[in-house]
Amino acid sequence: MTEVARSFVERWDKSLQSNYGTPRLTLVSGKGSILTDSDGKRYLDLLGGIATNVLGHAHPAITAAVASQIATLGHVSNFYIHPGVVELAEKLQTLAKDSAARVFFCNSGAEANEAALKLSRRTGRTKIVATHGAFHGRTMGALSLTGQPAKRDPFKPLITGITHVPFGDLEAMASAVTRKTAMVIVEPILGEAGVVVPPEGYLKGLRKICDATGTLLVIDAVQTGMGRTGQWFGYEYEGIKPDVITLAKGLGGGLPLGAMIALGSASELFLPGDHGSTFGGNPVACASALAVISQIEKQNLLATVRNHEVVIKAHLRRSKFVSKVRGQGLLLGIVLSKPLALEVRQELETRGVLVNAPTSDVIRIAPALTITPAQIQTFLRKFDSTLERVFNV
Ligand SMILES: *Cc1c(COP(=O)(O)O)cnc(C)c1O
Repeated sequence: MTEVARSFVERWDKSLQSNYGTPRLTLVSGKGSILTDSDGKRYLDLLGGIATNVLGHAHPAITAAVASQIATLGHVSNFYIHPGVVELAEKLQTLAKDSAARVFFCNSGAEANEAALKLSRRTGRTKIVATHGAFHGRTMGALSLTGQPAKRDPFKPLITGITHVPFGDLEAMASAVTRKTAMVIVEPILGEAGVVVPPEGYLKGLRKICDATGTLLVIDAVQTGMGRTGQWFGYEYEGIKPDVITLAKGLGGGLPLGAMIALGSASELFLPGDHGSTFGGNPVACASALAVISQIEKQNLLATVRNHEVVIKAHLRRSKFVSKVRGQGLLLGIVLSKPLALEVRQELETRGVLVNAPTSDVIRIAPALTITPAQIQTFLRKFDSTLERVFNV
């Protein structure tokens, strides 16, 4: 590390809280799937700001939309309408295939899930069922939904009335959900827990359980949404219609934007005055989201993502160091045959590739949907040589 890079690390330490630990890399610029650090070293970005930069860095469609919007109208609050927020809500309505759907905009995934939680209270019921391992955010409400004891326990007491059952287990869900259950919330694929895909029929089964008890089915598509899995929101592969979809991460293409979409009759639950967000639906964030959606459509990225998935899975399945590859589209968890994910992550970084290790044996990749076939080949080549090196030390 050079003096410049070291000095950023020291200054972070002395000025930011220690909740993230201290990162080592200082990134100064990006273009597409390439990032450059403060020493001028280049990296291939396979993490995409945690499944967020769906069009990569500095995409011309986003920079143009954002620059033009901030120069025209930067913020107005929800006391007023602006054209972008209406256009984006209509677009999401269309993508969710429900003209009765109504959108609430916020700024993050946790806030989108908070909004869903409050919406569910308007059913007149207060019980909620969520799943073990699920991640729904860090605010007190979203943390209460999150099924990870290490993140929850230090902050108890949390919201009461929330039960967690094993992910993928329909029997456990059926016995936990009653006519008093306001909502069931699930990720269609667990993201932070290491990219875990539920057994076939899981989402369909959840739909049945919720229908039988009049319970809202909330799909947390914060990580799986916006084309990441090769579908718009990540639940469509089971052909179900949820009552609520929550979005953030990829929605703003790198700008902070979240959404809680209530479908069908759930869209009538919130009454005037029930909820709000000063920045929610901010014109600049909406302009960026509209650019994201239009590029995904124009470049036919949903199909591209599915093709990339096939190529990456076929390659990695031949590796003797990989026990399986989980996930869909460009949200993949590469399960290593030994718990060496931290070492692999670090060695990849040294070799100029950024990924993360959500668990001790899983490497997660969630690159820009615009990553090129050549960049994927570079990643696979470097991944192979990294595994050779780390497993043979
Ligand atoms: C990241 C994430 C969240 C929280 O989003 P924030 O923007 O960090 O609040 C919620 N749910 C899922 C599935 C996520 O991956």
